[in-house]
Amino acid sequence: MGKRIAIVGGGYLGAELAKAMDDIADVTLIEPRSHFVHASAMIRAVVQPGLVEDSLIPYDRLLKRGRVVAARATGVDGEGVTLDSGARVDADYIVVATGSNYAAPFKPKGADIDGLRAASQAAHEKLQAAKTVGIIGAGAVGVELAGEIAEAMPDKKITVITMDDKLFAAKPDSLGVSLSKKLKASGVELILGKKVEGLASMTEPHAGSVTLEGGPERAFDLIFPVLGARACSDLLKNLPGAEVTAAERIKTDGHLRPSSLPNVFAAGDVADPGDNMTIVAVSRQLPWLKKTLTGLITGRKLADMKTYRPWGTEAPIVLPLGPERGNSFLMLFTAGDWITKKVKGADLFVPKYQKLLNRR
Ligand SMILES: Cc1cc2nc3c(=O)[nH]c(=O)nc-3n(C[C@H](O)[C@H](O)[C@H](O)COP(=O)(O)OP(=O)(O)OC[C@H]3O[C@@H](n4cnc5c(N)ncnc54)[C@H](O)[C@@H]3O)c2cc1C
Repeated sequence: MGKRIAIVGGGYLGAELAKAMDDIADVTLIEPRSHFVHASAMIRAVVQPGLVEDSLIPYDRLLKRGRVVAARATGVDGEGVTLDSGARVDADYIVVATGSNYAAPFKPKGADIDGLRAASQAAHEKLQAAKTVGIIGAGAVGVELAGEIAEAMPDKKITVITMDDKLFAAKPDSLGVSLSKKLKASGVELILGKKVEGLASMTEPHAGSVTLEGGPERAFDLIFPVLGARACSDLLKNLPGAEVTAAERIKTDGHLRPSSLPNVFAAGDVADPGDNMTIVAVSRQLPWLKKTLTGLITGRKLADMKTYRPWGTEAPIVLPLGPERGNSFLMLFTAGDWITKKVKGADLFVPKYQKLLNRR
């Protein structure tokens, strides 16, 4: 069949793009994990362990015509992809979507799905035994984690610490103010504007203490470091003209290309087109990629097609604090518990991703 597309990484970007292009091109998805990881549900999984299995979804039914190759890519060039076995996947177009790493127990280390299962279970057990919980970082993961623990385990004394002066400063104040009120109402202590020193691990939940900048030491039975993602950009860093930006991401041009190679694209967390590292960004990049790759396959020239425009400050964000409560910023307004529950809080999009992987 016609043109060959190699997609490196089967996360939110790669899995959905592979499925979308499966009817149109000869698709090869290169992904070392046995299962798609729905990271978004791994926060609640810490208090509700049954969610882990629902959110780890095998790749075997994803593609009807194309193939998922269980391998790690070690090189990308204008003609295709080199795998860790030394084998080659030749392609006309290559999309690199190798995503990002995150602290345990929220994403696997490499391809280690069993390791993620074990890490989530271990965190759950430590949490059950803990009286005091410190959450270091107050981005979406930190705030949701505090909300989930407060809702499911109201006996825990939870403290969230961030160096930012307010929550979600890039969004209208109403979002952060409302979330702060709800967290405080469920007994969560919020410490804003304080840099944490002496964190024993940036990647693993652990017992210990931290020092607040210019202030006292705080000890916790369990500390979750949730300080943000780091892109997996090794494949792209050394391509001609590649530019590394914050969190190891690679800057892309108006056509989501990370280098001077004309047929190599990058998207999702590894790419920096001006979007944040979110599924919300992926949801904007996907339709552009589908349209552009389809255009190229049918003989159109890239220069004649529209460039990609990233989200601006209007990018939506949906922040459940457990299944019933939360707040969302939905482009024009800040929504409360009911909308947040309906959009995400109730099922965390688990059915959506099971459907994507053709499990229901
Ligand atoms: C706990 C948590 C909750 C989140 N919740 C939300 C949310 O609710 N909403 C939201 O918008 N965002 C959320 N995010 C952010 C979201 O998870 C990321 O934006 C998203 O994972 C990016 O998708 P991706 O496809 O770029 O990368 P990933 O999902 O990281 O997938 C990358 C894939 O590439 C594979 N890979 C890596 N290197 C190689 C290689 N060399 N060869 C082959 N394959 C490779 C990996 O195995 C992986 O499967 C959350 C993040 C975390 C950590």
